[in-house]
Amino acid sequence: MSQEILINITPMETRVALVENGVPQEIHVERNKKRGLVGNIYKGKVVRVLPGMQAAFIDIGEERTAFLHVDDLVQRTNKKADGESADISRLLHDGQQLVVQVIKDPVGSKGARLSAELSIASYNLVYMPDVNRIGISQRLEDEEERERLKTALTKVVDELQVSGGYILRTVAEGATEDELRSAVSFLNRVWEDLLERKVSAVAPCRLYEDLPLYKRVLRDMVRPEVEKIRVDSREILEKLTSFANKFNPEIVRLIEHYPGERPLFYLYGIEDEITKALQRKVVLKSGGSLVFDQTEAMSTIDVNTGAFVGRRNLEETIYKTNLEAAVAIARQMRIRNLGGIVIVDFIDMKNAEHRRQVLRTFEKAVGRDRVRTIISGVTELGLVQATRKRTSQSLGQVMCAECPTCQGRGYVKSPESVSYEILRDILRVARAYECDSLQVLAPPSVIEHLLDEDSSQVADLEQFIGRTIQFRVESLYPLEQFDIIPV
Ligand SMILES: [Zn+2]
Repeated sequence: MSQEILINITPMETRVALVENGVPQEIHVERNKKRGLVGNIYKGKVVRVLPGMQAAFIDIGEERTAFLHVDDLVQRTNKKADGESADISRLLHDGQQLVVQVIKDPVGSKGARLSAELSIASYNLVYMPDVNRIGISQRLEDEEERERLKTALTKVVDELQVSGGYILRTVAEGATEDELRSAVSFLNRVWEDLLERKVSAVAPCRLYEDLPLYKRVLRDMVRPEVEKIRVDSREILEKLTSFANKFNPEIVRLIEHYPGERPLFYLYGIEDEITKALQRKVVLKSGGSLVFDQTEAMSTIDVNTGAFVGRRNLEETIYKTNLEAAVAIARQMRIRNLGGIVIVDFIDMKNAEHRRQVLRTFEKAVGRDRVRTIISGVTELGLVQATRKRTSQSLGQVMCAECPTCQGRGYVKSPESVSYEILRDILRVARAYECDSLQVLAPPSVIEHLLDEDSSQVADLEQFIGRTIQFRVESLYPLEQFDIIPV
């Protein structure tokens, strides 16, 4: 398999696509304005110690001074035996310089919240230079896997002769020893780099920031299969090259500038793939289709056959559609970056061997995913349940807002329903107001319905209320909106 990574840079956002054998398989989007300060490490300067609050204001060179509470200054292990907090005025004084990390973003007029306990995160691991133990996320439940990971990580840490503590994150499940080794050595190089800069840095200044998406790509997505990394910005190309030189020199030769006239994401039809990945319905080559619904609890995917299916080959057509769907669903799960529970409702199959084959095809297809996906088999109702590790927001969550017309329901009242609502409301308005006539403002489809299918009801109503009803199309009204005005 050959992989290529494309990085599209604009002032507003960074977009990354992973292409396998010419087919886009992953899309990642990071908006610049949404990147906070959490995780950033600074050499800061104490501006004011507040003994009454057991805290201090620290200048970190950002817009507002940041806040450090004594509990976040002294490591829990060094706390006084009686559990009482230490006295801040004996630990800090005005003008003192210290290295701190942002643990909470600034909100409104409040500055960022800091801690002196530092940590640096990678995809699989969190590195804590000041402690000495290996921990593991509680959400990683499989006891055997926990043991395997701990053993592998301990071995790697001994082998590389590095100090500090490590926490295995939930996404580390299934990580190989090689992956852990490259994560540990990466984190240690980042830490050494930070220590070097700390010496010469003049406070207040930033020593480390959580990597932007284009650098995380080099850290997390570059596998042996990757043959090329193309980026369409010269400035970022230079940053990527020097980053790779420091942390992973073998991949420098893969990085190249894309100078093309054609936008980078027009290659391999990536732009079209993004549009499709935000749609509810995906059409399959066989004529069938997939319908995606995402709620907070889970994603559901419904498989449908095409409209014209001959009766003679029905079972065969269903089987073929399900096979195609199994591959397409795995791909859409990756492109859409669906996390958590995914329920697939394949078309019912009578043949047990067909059911097995579809499930196997699905298992094989999700096996190519970098993010671990577990298929927990078929439920009694013939639904296939899969769980895909949640790594970040889905593409839809990053790129879409709730539809203002239907408030996220995905449906609006039909023109017929709105018409009936209008007819009822005309009666209410006619009773409440003295007037010669009533004017109805509504969107085109509704007015059309009133003048066409409902014309005789309208005539009856006019006679009943003894007034004329005028209709006016308001093409800017969303589907459910209307007004009735006494004239
Ligand atoms: Zn809507």
